[in-house]
Amino acid sequence: MPRFWKKKTKPSSVAREQDILQQAPPQKAPLLTSRRIGIHTSSAGGVQNAAERAYRLGCNTLQIFSSSPRQWKASKPNLSQCDEMKKLREQYDLNPLVIHTNYLVNLASTTPLFLQKSIEAFRGEVERALLLSANYLVLHPGSFRGADREAGLLQTAAAIAAATKDLNLEKGGLTILIENTAGAQYSLGASFEQVAEILDHLRGLVPVGACIDTCHTHVAGYDIVSEKGMQETLAHLDETIGLKNVRVWHSNDAKAARGSKLDRHQQLGKGTIGIEPFRRLLNDPRLVHAAFIAETPIYEPGDDMRTVEILKSLISKTKS
Ligand SMILES: [Zn+2]
Ligand SMILES: [Zn+2]
Repeated sequence: MPRFWKKKTKPSSVAREQDILQQAPPQKAPLLTSRRIGIHTSSAGGVQNAAERAYRLGCNTLQIFSSSPRQWKASKPNLSQCDEMKKLREQYDLNPLVIHTNYLVNLASTTPLFLQKSIEAFRGEVERALLLSANYLVLHPGSFRGADREAGLLQTAAAIAAATKDLNLEKGGLTILIENTAGAQYSLGASFEQVAEILDHLRGLVPVGACIDTCHTHVAGYDIVSEKGMQETLAHLDETIGLKNVRVWHSNDAKAARGSKLDRHQQLGKGTIGIEPFRRLLNDPRLVHAAFIAETPIYEPGDDMRTVEILKSLISKTKS
């Protein structure tokens, strides 16, 4: 599981003096780029605050949690806050809005009670995403301890179908994105083939796509560091999931080595991936439709803004 929210300065507990909302608003609009760039943003004080924070950080897309990522209990978002969020997103052109599912949900669970709880919680995630007019809801495929991988993949797909029954995602403009994972023991989705298999099971039932996390891809063993490796990995991704189906790139550097299966996010350019692979991704004409969203640790106040600035600085001005 990613650890970006567990660092010293949790986004959810940003000290008041560090919170960008407590500072004077920017004098002029932040410079936006031809790519959709964002960072996982705190919703502290209400979901509409996430939109204001993202704008002030210089983003034109954002990811949020719609409830506490480590609690089962979730309250419905307040409708006036949803309206305010919608208004701010229009005003600032913040698109897409990505919601990351709670980390407790495991739709591959082999324990019937836990599975039922996960399906109910995921249905709540979809309902909240619809209320918030989110474009994407990101989900980890789950952990299949006690079963075989094939059964796990099938069950995750069946559980997604069950959780979304009678909810009109198409009408709400909501697509579920399956995220590739680091490949720790029993976790599903460390290979592109496994993500593709879940997508195949769900096509026609619910709008689906993929979210590719660069840290997970790297620690799962794919080479994205060398230029040749990156091209091979993208070719493989295209053959399995399809590059056009990758709607979000979680743009995270990694603390651990390639192939280590250790999911520890690092700030861009300070980890085992380095900065060049991000420059390649951001300037690849096959990926212009995707949003690039960081989930990197915040050690010092301002790290989130610096991360957004780094991503924006990598986009070549001469390319489309
Ligand atoms: Zn994730
Ligand atoms: Zn991620």
